[in-house]
Amino acid sequence: MARILIIEDNPANLRLATLLLTEGGHQVLSASDAETGLAMAREALPDLVLMDIQLPGMDGLAATAILKAEPATAGIPVIALTALAMREDRERSRQAGCDAYIAKPLRYRELYATIDRFLVPAATDAPAVADAAAVPPVEPAA
Ligand code: MN
Repeated sequence: MARILIIEDNPANLRLATLLLTEGGHQVLSASDAETGLAMAREALPDLVLMDIQLPGMDGLAATAILKAEPATAGIPVIALTALAMREDRERSRQAGCDAYIAKPLRYRELYATIDRFLVPAATDAPAVADAAAVPPVEPAA
């Protein structure tokens, strides 16, 4: 069980994500705009953030960059949610500091699998830390 913050302005998407995560045994916090979400992230220090990219006002990329720039929240994994399943979008979310990317509409298997990569370090070879860029490249065996 983890505490997961969802920042998503679309009520239907928020309900679906909340339902899926609750069913998965997680505690869910939610916000429908970036400013509120940032305040909640700082206050609650969730285990993971699901960040919609297209938000009213500040978008999810800008909000992610802020979270990643602040020491208290920099280590929280951020998974980008976007309806725009374009390569360019994926690249932009990575540059903003997102740790992973899920294209909407949400599919529960992909959601659970992606979340588990960050919540269950022993279950995967992927780094458990949020900042994958900090992990040195694998060096070939001598
Ligand atoms: Mn949106």
